[in-house]
Parts: sequence; structure tokens; C-alpha cells
Amino acid sequence: DGVTLREVEDDVWELERDDEMRVPARVFANETLLEDIQNDKTLEQLRNVACMPGVVAPALCMPDGHQGYGFPVGGVAAFDAEDGYISPGAVGFDINCGVRMVKTNLTYEDVRGREEELVDALFDAVPCGLGGGGVHDVSHTDLEAALERGVDWCVEEGYAVREDRLHCEDEGRRPDADPSAVSKKAKDRGANQMGSLGSGNHFLEIQRVTDVYDDETADAFGLDEDQVVVLIHCGSRGLGHQVCSDYLRRIEQEYPDLTEDLPDKDLAAAPAGSELADDYYGAMCAAINFAWVNRQLITHAVRETFADVFDTSWQALEMDLLYDVAHNIAKKEAHDVYVTDDGYSLDGDGGRVQRDLYVHRKGATRAFPAGHPDVPTAYREVGQPIIIPGSMGAGSYILKGGSQSLARSFGSTAHGAGRLMSRTQAKREYGGGEVQTDLREQNEIYVKAASGETIAEEAPGVYKDVDEVVGVSDALDIGDLVVRTFPIANIKG
Ligand code: 5GP
Ligand code: MN
Ligand code: MN
Repeated sequence: DGVTLREVEDDVWELERDDEMRVPARVFANETLLEDIQNDKTLEQLRNVACMPGVVAPALCMPDGHQGYGFPVGGVAAFDAEDGYISPGAVGFDINCGVRMVKTNLTYEDVRGREEELVDALFDAVPCGLGGGGVHDVSHTDLEAALERGVDWCVEEGYAVREDRLHCEDEGRRPDADPSAVSKKAKDRGANQMGSLGSGNHFLEIQRVTDVYDDETADAFGLDEDQVVVLIHCGSRGLGHQVCSDYLRRIEQEYPDLTEDLPDKDLAAAPAGSELADDYYGAMCAAINFAWVNRQLITHAVRETFADVFDTSWQALEMDLLYDVAHNIAKKEAHDVYVTDDGYSLDGDGGRVQRDLYVHRKGATRAFPAGHPDVPTAYREVGQPIIIPGSMGAGSYILKGGSQSLARSFGSTAHGAGRLMSRTQAKREYGGGEVQTDLREQNEIYVKAASGETIAEEAPGVYKDVDEVVGVSDALDIGDLVVRTFPIANIKG
């Protein structure tokens, strides 16, 4: 599509720079993944990001990158927190969509033959699909508390134990949350969805560990071959979506000139330090907290269901949280950067300065290395756990934050395999029932979904090869392989 690339080192591609680009734009990919990336508007969108005022070099696309709304999914962009911008489009509609992994002390043998029983019980316990209904019946006070305090509120209410909090990114709470910046409409949409999976791409999956690549780290993570684990993928439901819409509209109204000047109006952003930027940040942080509460309430339901089915307690099943990572988020983080002619940059020489940046990760996962103070004490010596799901018919991976992540990608890596085709195209290519039967017969994976259409839209074939994605992450030392898992059973939202 006219965007020319140059391989600057193995698996690192740079876009040819034009006059409007303020900073270099870079893609992490091997040849195979690059072909997928070149099939849609990803590179054009990445180029547009590099044109935005206040962007800190470089603008980045992770190996799972694909076209998104304005800003690519798999995109990472940092803006100076004083002179830069914060952009709802660079966070995404599903604010703090993310994944968490719950461990068990069960092995594959313990679960084999009981997949249906387990999945049916989970399907009853965890609301899913488009509609409403949540694990928790919410009062106005509860909702405000959840928005403000995140997983801390879950601890107060008995939905979480203290250790859960310690095993979430940011300890499951953004202190900058401002519930008063969340519209009534957004709150109304969230009120009856607290503790629900949602639809489409969201899922709850029972998996087994199939491969261990790094014994020492797997040990620190408490993961072992054949172990059964549960992966939960969901976000902030209608609440986050409404926050994103509300603020995109306000930006267009209050900063029409600025929006007009952008290469794509879907990149609409508010200038750092403006009242609107502060309001959006406060509202987004509240939505972030809501998503953490959502995943925690689902965890609570999953624990109770396992306890029921296996006729014991979740504590006896050691259903501890490995980690919870966000993959649609913007955060103020301090990073060491060089001062260059273009502004601030990860590349340069001489001394570095520490700057507060709004790091946007849209379809990208934080990947902090060993030693970073924001990595929980339990994992400080090995690095932050990174969760990269594949598909309902492929492996998923746990990685650890790599030694080059801060220098290369503002401490970030991929968030999944990444989509190959749109939902519309997927429905033309696949039939839900057939996909379900194939998974059962060929892979012994039991899938249950709120609708057959979802299964078609989420068929394994609509996703890229996750092995290639994690391979690039590992090779670049931004996130290093620890274990691989494979689905046993799956609930699709
Ligand atoms: P997203 O947040 O962009 O919708 O999805 C994150 C990633 O999850 C996708 O890129 C895809 O690789 C992965 N994924 C989607 N559905 C499933 C599933 O049912 N099971 C697993 N393990 N991964 C999935
Ligand atoms: Mn989501
Ligand atoms: Mn997601």
C-alpha cells in the first residue's frame, strides 16, 4: 500500500520516513508475520501515529499487529506527559481488556472425562454473551467503590484475597481513577455487567501446561508440565466502551482544529495537562479498575465452581492467581529517554533523562524485566509474567519481561496471535457447528458458546500463528518464553 520498509536488524523493520512523520516508526516481525501485517491498513495507521504531536520515538507495532480503529491493535505509542497527548483511540474501546491466569494443582488426568461437567457448571456460573447480568448485584455505592478502588474493593467484599491483589498489574488499582468523570450512561451500562465475560473475542479457557522452556522461571511462577490452569480474557464491558465514546466526542467538540490536523480523525487526542486530558485519564483509570473487578468476580465464580465440581475448597485446589495483565491501556510511567532533535527518544547516545510518559498499549502487554520495582516481589528476580493467548485451537504462552523491553519498546510486547481476517470474512469462511465438532474430534477440546456465530468468528483459522509471534518477542528479548499451554475446554462469550 505504498509504505516502504527497511529491515534495520533481525526482526526489526523501519518505515521509510516522510516529512510529516515526527519520529521513526518500527515494526517487530519476521517475514511471515510481516506479510500478514502488510495485508491491511496496519502500516498506514502506524505511520499516522508517528505524525502525532508530542509522540516519543519510536512509534511501534508488535508482531501480532493488525488494523484497528485509527490506531493499530498491537500498537505502542508513548507521549510526553507534559507536552504530549493522550488518545482514547490509542487505548481502544474495551479499556483494560486483559487476561489473567488462575493456577490449580490439578493435572490433565484429573480433568479428563469431566470437561463437559466442568464447562457446563462454569457456563451457568459466569454470565456471558451480549446481554446483562453479572456475578454481583450492584448498588450505586458498590459501583462507585469498584471504580475507585478496583481489586481492593473485591478484597473488602470477600471476592478476592490479598494475594490476588499482589498478582495483578498495578496491584489491580489505578489510584488516579476519578469516578465523577465517568458519565451516568457509562455507569448505567456497567451496573448490571459486573462479573460477566461479554461477547465475541472474550473467553474462559481451561488449559494444561504442555511445555516448559525455562525451568527456573516456571518454578518461580509455580507452573509445571501437565498442570491445569484457567485463562480469563475480558474487559470493562459497556462501561469502558461508553467512556471511550464519550471522550472521543468531547475531544472532537473541544479541539476541532487539532482533530482536523491529524492524519486520521480517529486518532483524536487531548493535550496533556488540559482539563479534558485529566478528565479522560481519570475516567479511563476508573474503567481500568472496573475491568479488574470484572475479572476478579469471574475468578471468584470460577473458584467456587471448581470447588463444587471437585468437592473441595479452592484453597485446597491451590487456585492462586499467576498474574493479571492489561492489554488496552494508557498509563503515566517514568521512562529513561534520550533528548534528540525530534524531542525524546529511546534511541540516542550520551546521557538519558527520566521523563513521565503516557504509554499507550493497545493490544499490547506490559513486559517489565527482572529488577523493575513494579514487578511483584514474588517475580522480581525473574521478570513480570506476560500472558499471550493463541486461539481456542492453538497453544497459548506465558513469557517473562525481557532484558531489552525497556530499551526497545517502553517495556511492552505482543498481546496475542492477532487477527488475520475480519469477523464478516470469518463468518463466510467458517461454520460455528463445524468448527466446534472439529475441535472436539481432532483436538479433544470441548467448546461451549453463547452463540454459534461467535465460534465461527473466533475459529482458530482467523488468527495468526502465535508461535511466530512469541518467537519474535523472545528473539528480541522483549518477552522471553517460559511455558506453553493448550486448551482442554473453552467458553466463548
Ligand atoms: P483481543 O484482545 O485482541 O480480542 O484478543 C487477544 C488474543 O486472544 C487474540 O489475538 C487471539 O490470539 C487470542 N484468542 C482469541 N480467542 C481465543 C481463545 O478462545 N482461546 C485462546 N487461548 N486465545 C484466544
Ligand atoms: Mn476486549
Ligand atoms: Mn483483549
